[in-house]
Amino acid sequence: MNQSTPITEIKGVGDKTRKLFEKLDITTVGDLLSHYPRDYETFGAPVPIAEAIPGQICAIHVTVTSIPNQKKVRNLTILNVNVRDTSGAMQLTFFNMPFLKKILKPGGYYLFRGLVQTRGAAKIMEQPKMYNYEEYQKQAGLLQPRYSLTKGLTNQAVQKAVKQALSLYTFEDEYYPEEISEKYDLLPREDALHTIHFPADFDALVQARRRLVFDEFFDFLLLLRKNKDLTAALPNSYPMYETADTVRFLEQMPFALTKAQKKVWQELREDMGSPYCMNRLIQGDVGSGKTIVAVLALLMCAANGFQGALMAPTEVLAMQHFETISGYVEKYHLVFRPILLVGSMTAKDKREAYEKIASGEVNLIIGTHALIQDKVTYKNLALVVTDEQHRFGVRQREHLTEKGDTPHVLVMSATPIPRTLAIILYGDLHISVIDELPANRLPIKNCVVNTAYRPKAYEFIQKEVAAGRQAYVICPQVEEGELEDVENVVDYTEKLRSALPVGVQIAYLHGKMRPADKNKIMEEFAAHNIDVLVSTTVIEVGINVPNATVMMVENAERFGLAQLHQLRGRVGRGEYQSYCIFVSAKEQKETMERLQILNKSNDGFFIASEDLKLRGPGELFGIRQSGDFSFALGDIYTDASVLKQASEAVEELLLEDYDLSMEKHSLLREHVQSPTGNNVDFRTI
Ligand code: ADP
Ligand code: MG
Repeated sequence: MNQSTPITEIKGVGDKTRKLFEKLDITTVGDLLSHYPRDYETFGAPVPIAEAIPGQICAIHVTVTSIPNQKKVRNLTILNVNVRDTSGAMQLTFFNMPFLKKILKPGGYYLFRGLVQTRGAAKIMEQPKMYNYEEYQKQAGLLQPRYSLTKGLTNQAVQKAVKQALSLYTFEDEYYPEEISEKYDLLPREDALHTIHFPADFDALVQARRRLVFDEFFDFLLLLRKNKDLTAALPNSYPMYETADTVRFLEQMPFALTKAQKKVWQELREDMGSPYCMNRLIQGDVGSGKTIVAVLALLMCAANGFQGALMAPTEVLAMQHFETISGYVEKYHLVFRPILLVGSMTAKDKREAYEKIASGEVNLIIGTHALIQDKVTYKNLALVVTDEQHRFGVRQREHLTEKGDTPHVLVMSATPIPRTLAIILYGDLHISVIDELPANRLPIKNCVVNTAYRPKAYEFIQKEVAAGRQAYVICPQVEEGELEDVENVVDYTEKLRSALPVGVQIAYLHGKMRPADKNKIMEEFAAHNIDVLVSTTVIEVGINVPNATVMMVENAERFGLAQLHQLRGRVGRGEYQSYCIFVSAKEQKETMERLQILNKSNDGFFIASEDLKLRGPGELFGIRQSGDFSFALGDIYTDASVLKQASEAVEELLLEDYDLSMEKHSLLREHVQSPTGNNVDFRTI
């Protein structure tokens, strides 16, 4: 077996399982092996009920003391049963598991494992898992991998498939030259892959992960460095001059640019008029007003007779930009002739768009990655702006260059990155910073609460809705089944519908919906036909609905603080007082303390750095700082030291052997050139 062996060669993976794996983008053995565990579970020894701590997952070995009591509430069967051990008693609740009524017998001994919660003064568990005592003891103490799943695919099935793949896989020879492996103390890749899936202990896991993270960063940085050398000092094919258009627009706009915005706008004008092609990043916290600066650059481009493109990571965001800019065109009679180009458009509409783009009938093209597909030919594309996208892909740059001359490139990002990391990650870009927020903003009011606060939160949302405002509620997962013990968008929406009055319009949004459906929901929300939007973090990036004033995040403990900060950035964008409610299902002191940081600060950069300080090595897994930089494992914050080492390794390597032509680098050269050589998704770097 090797990287590209189809997973159906694994015993037990038939057609049905293949389709399930496909939903997770796993079709080959290579995909499967790089489907790294999301986190690891340790099955601790059973504890006495008296010592089971609310907010923690515990195992208890208990005897049943009541006849299971079953009732039906609408289409939900709820089964309650009392249990006890010598130290205390607890109530267990099961949903939709009517068969347990026959299995759980008063006087019988059982082992349950689940999240300990409180109801009044009593301890309870909802939906605990039941185990055979002997089997439980066997896995107790081991680190068990937990994978991202999809409905119908169990964790155990993935474990089994991975185990088999690992045993049948023919590992390639080490591709790093000895100097690198030794200097950076890297485990052999084979060991690392074994260990990341089935670690013997925590220390081994940390080492394994380090090797794999190093690889991700190394591949990425190598490509980045090469790209930097290619694009450094490219001549300016589209020199531009400031015209009256931007000046007039600035005068007519209802607000004045902040000082920081003005400075960046100045930098852009200089770049686009200079002898060299622009390659610039605008970094600015959420709500700092990056869009308007990009619009100015695009307007200057259009006024100079060229085409500009604005590329967003999601259709929803692309549509929003299209609406905003079309509004400006109408109101201020700008010279833009904009068009939207997204994947979900009909073939006919797309064809028409291609024609208009090729003929130059349109001069501002707004969309997703559809913008740089082969079918699109531009008349004179002179500026490409990418929003909320960490890096403009190296491959995309090549793509565009093939379409004609090199356009100016402007990238916008709200990810707070320390200067030292920015230099590594954006080594090929000039950096502009918008470091102040528009003055008219009311600071957002925050609270960090436990799940018992929900009724109050709903009441509050209802009040805001009655006052004409809108709210977001965020859940970590789309539907039941991917993660245990966390809220999901689909069920939560139902819950909310029964908790709020009938007149309140509630809808949901998540990444697995069809793009056209997502767009529709977002449009309806923007048009205020929806009051409350229950969503996954798909709305994390860029969305701007100034009328929304409440952001409620369920299972806030599951998110990185920087990500929560991004989510918070969706409110407080208009004139109204806005509120953030972070609901934590875990009441441990550390979790609450971590979340309290959000309470103390509105500064994304400060938040990200505080989060880092608070995290121990045990928290390397599970929570990711943010979904940006789509490395499979690596996190630019927590793995900053590995990032620096990989960067150093790349520099040294290129200094010694720029073309990787030396014999000792031949395997590395092969690796870099192979399509599987990169775990990095180049659509989003
Ligand atoms: P982000 O930097 O997060 O992309 P946006 O560009 O979406 O932020 O701007 C957020 C909101 O602030 C928008 O509604 C925008 O019109 C408004 N805005 C931008 N610049 C200013 C300013 N100088 N004064 C007042 N409001 C502004
Ligand atoms: Mg934005």
